[in-house]
Amino acid sequence: MNKERKLIIAGNWKMNKTVAEALDLVRGLKIELANQKEVDVVVCPPFTALSEVSKAILDSNIRLGAQNMSEHNVGAHTGEIAAVMLKEFSVRYVILGHSERRQHQKESNALISRKALAAHAASLKPIVCVGETLAEREAGETEKVLETQVRGSLAGLTKDQMTETIIAYEPVWAIGTGKTATTQQAQEAHAFIRGLLAKMFDETVARRVRIQYGGSVKPSNARELMSQPDVDGALVGGASLEARSFAEIIKNSI
Ligand code: PEP
Repeated sequence: MNKERKLIIAGNWKMNKTVAEALDLVRGLKIELANQKEVDVVVCPPFTALSEVSKAILDSNIRLGAQNMSEHNVGAHTGEIAAVMLKEFSVRYVILGHSERRQHQKESNALISRKALAAHAASLKPIVCVGETLAEREAGETEKVLETQVRGSLAGLTKDQMTETIIAYEPVWAIGTGKTATTQQAQEAHAFIRGLLAKMFDETVARRVRIQYGGSVKPSNARELMSQPDVDGALVGGASLEARSFAEIIKNSI
């Protein structure tokens, strides 16, 4: 697939995998994806597995991401992890504002933008998640919701920082449900977000930013989704927990 932007496909393992299981998974991925250079491949294990996974992927093209981080650099923030701590394990990407955190940890757009700024200050690339609920889509509010989330979660970023930020469009109703947005729904949302980036930053920035689709991506639907002009990769949950299915998503996207 010949695209203007290099595809980026990330696996969000969520709260799954002990260290031993995580190592099994990356060993499998390394075999499946040996010599693969066409797609940027990222795995996002739980914090507890970052250290070992980091060592295990040293000799591969797989890159490491974290699933969250603190907006603070240091101090009295029990249970939090700072960007500088992630950097110790050669983490390069960090998922911010996943809908599960927006919903269960009540993360606001303002908090997510502070985290995105902190990530950039540490040279981590944020993967900022946005997406509407089913009720919002059915009420015809998808674009309004996306606009509020995109403007709020990316507030204060410079053009250079924005260019190094990845956006994941993840309709909440498609996450972990087996329901995937149609290619048309995905393309429309991605094009809308890109248009918004042009207004907020400029056309060049908008053209460069990679926008992933997330929500029940599987080997069987990856090709069609990735063929859309504004879909530049995927954020994959369930199907990233098994080497074969994650690798097939990547191979089917090329
Ligand atoms: C996600 O959690 O980001 C996600 C897209 O999950 P799933 O692929 O399981 O729908």
